[in-house]
Amino acid sequence: MREYNFGHFLYILRSDAGLTQFQLGKLVGVSDKAVSKWENGVSKPQRDILYKLSEVLGVSIDELLSCKYHSCENENVKGVFATRKQLWSKALDAMHNRYSEFVPIEILNRFLSEKADIENTDMIVYFDFLSALVSEAKKNGEHIRIKGGVASSFVAYLMGATEVNPLKPHYYCPDCKRVIFDDRVKSGWDLPSINCSCSKTMRSDGHGIPFEVYHSDIQRNIALAVDVSPEFLLSAKKCAEEYFKECKIKTEERDGHICMITVTTQKSEQRILFFADDELAHYKLLEERTATSFDRVRFDTADILREFQKGNTDGITEFKSTFTKNMLEKVSPSLFNDLIQISGLSHAVGGWRDNAEALIQQGFSIGETIAYRDDVFNYVRKRMISKGFTDTGFAYKVMEDTRRGVYSKNGIPDEVEHHLRAVGTEDWFVDSVGKIGYLFQKAHGISYVRTAVILMWYKLHYPKEFNEIMML
Ligand SMILES: [Zn+2]
Repeated sequence: MREYNFGHFLYILRSDAGLTQFQLGKLVGVSDKAVSKWENGVSKPQRDILYKLSEVLGVSIDELLSCKYHSCENENVKGVFATRKQLWSKALDAMHNRYSEFVPIEILNRFLSEKADIENTDMIVYFDFLSALVSEAKKNGEHIRIKGGVASSFVAYLMGATEVNPLKPHYYCPDCKRVIFDDRVKSGWDLPSINCSCSKTMRSDGHGIPFEVYHSDIQRNIALAVDVSPEFLLSAKKCAEEYFKECKIKTEERDGHICMITVTTQKSEQRILFFADDELAHYKLLEERTATSFDRVRFDTADILREFQKGNTDGITEFKSTFTKNMLEKVSPSLFNDLIQISGLSHAVGGWRDNAEALIQQGFSIGETIAYRDDVFNYVRKRMISKGFTDTGFAYKVMEDTRRGVYSKNGIPDEVEHHLRAVGTEDWFVDSVGKIGYLFQKAHGISYVRTAVILMWYKLHYPKEFNEIMML
């Protein structure tokens, strides 16, 4: 028996790549309705489309047809780009710049674990490319959105290829570089402001994305997907062509809205996808019209969260649908982490209705429910550690099976449930993972919430400009 049907497997591949049905449809030359029909099992793509899907989603035809991944990821990718060694030094320098020469051991551990994980691949080169693209965008006052597994990586964060810091919640001093970890919260954005012993105001960051979750995200070997404004599409393409000018590359454009660049080295082939998204042009316009920058927005818990509690989210990306408004009403978010959980649940399958929603009615806080892969992994790992098990393999398996909906399709195997019970798992958790069909990447959710919070700031401080630009 197959683990999944085709539609569900396609949904997972598409969501992991951060693509909408519309974007995937454009890439393979069909409508979003056709993609929706495939995912719902109403119809199946024809053979020539299957080839395109395999190219775009970075899986083989065989994997698509058998509806499962094969375990041959990245084995052959070695020693292709000459600068890799220097790039690793660059990442190390960035870590020391932020967290001092005497970086705390848990930070060093994360860096070294990621390094061991991807050192033999070309990934560091792509991190560096994305960082160059971010700089190019900033220079032009443009906003871009980097999607896919890259966003969970600490090394990618250090290189400037993602805004999401996956370390545990912590304070850091921009001046003397002191670091204080603080596990009272799940998101560093929820840490109250404090001063460093050197008297500078400390900054807070960190979202606690475990190494194992990053590993799961990055190993998918998917295309690098980047949303850009329509005006920046050509510049992004040029930036890639310039960066990879000594490599074999192929550029394909579709409808003037999508650009796909394939970089082929001796042993690997990587796709970089640029999508034109009008929304990102609106962000630039908002900055221009108000003569302010997104960067100046500091997360102010009191008034910004109050607006989310009131459901004042018209025009706020990711929070304006009836579904998310309903969640906001039920949850009444009092923390940034609550917003991050809501974002995850809005992309999950089987996570909210008859699941987290019911738990919240029973008195659970949304932070205790399962909104991301991380929540499954952390929950199981914590219980295993309390029973003296240090190996994380079982927690990893439960996370992987849950996020792909294996249990909701086939039920939880007896031996898995037995082990879950043996480490002290509660009934609600077993019940909840049994209902989940898909879980989103937390790094994506964090990135969406970051933008939503910034937009809310504009809605509060520049309502006229916000209405004119974002309420179209
Ligand atoms: Zn200091």
